[in-house]
Amino acid sequence: MNIINVMKENALKHPERIIYEQANDLINHNADNFLTWGQLWEYSGKLAEYIKEHTMYHNPIIVLGNKHPYMLVCFLACMRAGHAYCPVDVSVPEKRVQDIIDQVDPEIILCTEELALYNERIVTLSSMQEIVNHNYEISDAQLLAGDETAYIIFTSGSTGVPKGVKITRNCIENFVEWAESLLPADVADKGLRFLNQAPYSFDLSVMDTYLALFTGGTVVALDKETQSDMKTVMTALAASDIDVWVSTPSFAEVCLTDRSFNKETLNHLKMMLFCGEVLSNKMARRLLRVLPDVAIVNTYGPTESTVAITNVTIDETICDRNESLPVGVPKPGTIIEIQDENGNVLPENEKGEIVVIGDTVSTGYWKNEEKTHAVFGTKHVDGKDVRFYRTGDAGYISEGNLYCSGRIDLQLKLYGYRLELEDIERNLIQLPYIAQVCVCPMERNGKVVSLTAVLVLAEPIAESDLRDRIRQDLADLLPSYMIPKKYVSVDYLPLTLNGKMDRKAIKGMIV
Ligand code: AMP
Repeated sequence: MNIINVMKENALKHPERIIYEQANDLINHNADNFLTWGQLWEYSGKLAEYIKEHTMYHNPIIVLGNKHPYMLVCFLACMRAGHAYCPVDVSVPEKRVQDIIDQVDPEIILCTEELALYNERIVTLSSMQEIVNHNYEISDAQLLAGDETAYIIFTSGSTGVPKGVKITRNCIENFVEWAESLLPADVADKGLRFLNQAPYSFDLSVMDTYLALFTGGTVVALDKETQSDMKTVMTALAASDIDVWVSTPSFAEVCLTDRSFNKETLNHLKMMLFCGEVLSNKMARRLLRVLPDVAIVNTYGPTESTVAITNVTIDETICDRNESLPVGVPKPGTIIEIQDENGNVLPENEKGEIVVIGDTVSTGYWKNEEKTHAVFGTKHVDGKDVRFYRTGDAGYISEGNLYCSGRIDLQLKLYGYRLELEDIERNLIQLPYIAQVCVCPMERNGKVVSLTAVLVLAEPIAESDLRDRIRQDLADLLPSYMIPKKYVSVDYLPLTLNGKMDRKAIKGMIV
């Protein structure tokens, strides 16, 4: 399989079908911001010719923007020209964008938004519009080999300098072949409509975008502005007829606070695919109640192994049996090992570090040998060398299902006890009057001295009663050293640009 050929076949088969539209335009009846499959193929071919003419090396190309139909044109154009693309969202602070530009050193930066940032390598949206109207002779030569890097996504590094994860074309293809197998069988190939919530700089977006590109479907994107107002999100969702939802659990959790998030609003919805952070038992139950005919699928994986590598469909029985939901079984082509700190493989039910071995593991970090060697390697499996990645996630396997137990780096010592913040959060969220929670370690002189829980309440409780009530309820669930000392109730928990809980910003709310 070559994903670029698959896209070409889809474009030839359904040239008039829409590949990209924006949910906010559906409300405004604005027909400017959509792209058909035919346009995607033609425009990306012309832009690819421009790229070939204007580059001497095969360095990656940065694609800077938020949600715009030309984002997909740019991604495909880069690949057709034999370059990797590197998506960077416009909401990334300028200093960080500059860090990424310095690291990648692109010959061209394709930019779909008007930006203050000046760089002589930028090709603006209006230039791209001229390019796609130009009479280029489009070549169909395949320039991106399967083992070459197709995209680079920068993730936050622990040192504060972003790390570029290199994903090959083969990785995308191995991922999307499996992801397609998760889709509802009876509607595949009918042009499914996929919700795109995540920015393109977050690899969760690869799930919806490549599923649409692979199956000849449509991406319905929620732009940054629309996402900032829940009422607009709901109106946009009602107008969007999406079949498959892809988001972080946190984004869906915020949606669930709106009464109109229900089967009448989402009347086409067949499946919700979650990835990127914990899907809580409580939230899964609420979804099963509100959207009884929708398949709720939990998936797990880091950017370093191409979006996701496990899946499980969550139902009432799984919720009843598991306080913390499983993330599922590995996809074909992937093995998951649980290892101790010396790299020994642990048996079922023993907790250790999750190590991913398989055909979607990245070839490493862009120009960062040291960090690459620290976490990537190869292992001999069935006579072949297969790449592995040490995730830094803690977890265990039980009856073939993987369970995540948080980040190894979110494990900390308090009064000499080892504890996991996410473990405490899982217990707090079980309390019926708590809607959302984040536990923050409070430090003095670099040492954790106490825990503070920041909460969104599901029902009003007087601030003066809160601490005693929670501590009393938690006493049946947790040892005393794990029970937070302080409780702060807030209206909402801020999310990161990627739609995950923003622990740093939340801590900033209380100190
Ligand atoms: P990212 O590379 O930004 O996609 O983040 C990957 C990390 O998100 C993983 O290493 C996990 O720590 C976490 N993660 C992803 N999916 C899940 C899930 N279903 N449940 C719990 N944590 C998850």
